[in-house]
Amino acid sequence: MPSQELDLFVVGAGSGGVRAARMAAQRGAKVAVAEMAALGGTCVNLGCIPKKLYSYAAHYAEAFHEAHGFGWPVETPEFDWALLKANRAAEIGRLNGVYGAVLEAAGATLVRGRARLVSANEVEVEGRRHRARHILVATGGHALMPEVPGSEHAVSSDAMFDLPRFPKRLVIVGAGYIACEMASIFRGLGAQVTQLVRGSRLLRGFDDDVAAFLAVEMGKKGVDIRLGTHLQRIERQGEQRLVHLHDGQVLEADTVLCATGRGPNTRGLGLEEVGVKLGARGEVIVDAQYRSCVPSILAVGDVTDRVQLTPVALAEAMVVVDQLFGEGRRRLDYEFIPTAVFTHPNIGTVGWTESEARARCAAVRTYQSEFRSLKHTLSGSSERTLMKLVVDDASDRVVGLHMVGAEAGETVQGFAVAMRAGATKAVFDGTIGIHPTAAEEFVTMREPVGR
Ligand SMILES: Cc1cc2nc3c(=O)[nH]c(=O)nc-3n(C[C@H](O)[C@H](O)[C@H](O)COP(=O)(O)OP(=O)(O)OC[C@H]3O[C@@H](n4cnc5c(N)ncnc54)[C@H](O)[C@@H]3O)c2cc1C
Repeated sequence: MPSQELDLFVVGAGSGGVRAARMAAQRGAKVAVAEMAALGGTCVNLGCIPKKLYSYAAHYAEAFHEAHGFGWPVETPEFDWALLKANRAAEIGRLNGVYGAVLEAAGATLVRGRARLVSANEVEVEGRRHRARHILVATGGHALMPEVPGSEHAVSSDAMFDLPRFPKRLVIVGAGYIACEMASIFRGLGAQVTQLVRGSRLLRGFDDDVAAFLAVEMGKKGVDIRLGTHLQRIERQGEQRLVHLHDGQVLEADTVLCATGRGPNTRGLGLEEVGVKLGARGEVIVDAQYRSCVPSILAVGDVTDRVQLTPVALAEAMVVVDQLFGEGRRRLDYEFIPTAVFTHPNIGTVGWTESEARARCAAVRTYQSEFRSLKHTLSGSSERTLMKLVVDDASDRVVGLHMVGAEAGETVQGFAVAMRAGATKAVFDGTIGIHPTAAEEFVTMREPVGR
């Protein structure tokens, strides 16, 4: 091995890439990581973090209203979009710095620029070649825009955090979690939001009851959700956009957001040229050890187009590092991965939907509770909460747990541990609730609503 050869070259300093580079370097490996944009990737710069900060911002609008019922007769002040953007940018800048410091402290070398693979063991960045025993592709994904005339007049979620002017009239195309979150956030911040959904429901892949309940709650908060609506074209008229629908209607908007899916970042990476097999969507095809068909080239995270979540990219990176530089015992179990959707109200979910459970189990019991939370008895809000359990009748194991309500992600994280441990409905029933909380409902539902 020539002295200049690295043990690991990571392409992409996002969630998966930074974790892999840092952990490998901490284990004594000689590591370099290439990044062509801001450190931290999608999650830090254009995803989870700015989105959650903006969701907090949007919740304040409700809080000002709800405060009245609790004896705080405050007037709702005017929202300052420029101030929120500046504060977000400062915080993200701080996080970018933290990521740089973490890599440096671990001893990984940061290479700035766009990387391209030139052989099974070589990566070129800005005209310079780097040789490595292993190459990890962690280049993430990008927003896909729909193929309709005028889609160039729309933006993707990337642009939403830094729009020059606050969009008073926002049209969102899409039914996935990013579309729903953006609808909730911008509605909360004061925009008039219309969400165009081609199909008959929101959030494909989520439990049917959860999706239907969320649509009602979002509707009550003023999001105009139009199911079965097809976008025909987008026209630019000066600063405003005209959104033409299949039924001849035309909507006027300041901004049109297309949140219609994401695709893996493999274009121009040189992967196919060096023999790496890509799937139909351009994703890197990997085996259970995250190896591509070229053994020295591995891939984790969104670029493999599987479970597109930051904690999953991190966990995959840990498995890769353990395999390359550790004992090789670590595995990632993709069953019961909990997740949240930061709509207003939030969704928290872990395990199977009712239909999945019905397809996988001989018999299923479901438990469901819908109520107005204690807070809203005084707040004046009509928001309601939904809790649902799906139980495999034969084993009594809780195989699905779903919530729509305040802080659903915070609530569901703990239950996810119990479910991974195989908790049965009897264990749930034997657990004392914390009173008064919404979460206690998960351990007090006794009568099945469906069998
Ligand atoms: C709007 C939005 C909201 C989201 N919210 C959540 C959430 O709440 N919770 C959650 O878990 N997940 C969320 N996600 C998903 C999450 O951000 C991703 O799953 C995660 O970032 C994937 O990590 P990754 O390492 O695969 O890629 P990324 O974090 O995207 O990192 C890839 C990096 O590679 C770099 N790169 C690409 N090509 C090259 C090249 N040729 N040379 C050098 N560098 C390159 C990119 O610039 C980027 O920095 C959200 C995503 C979006 C878009």
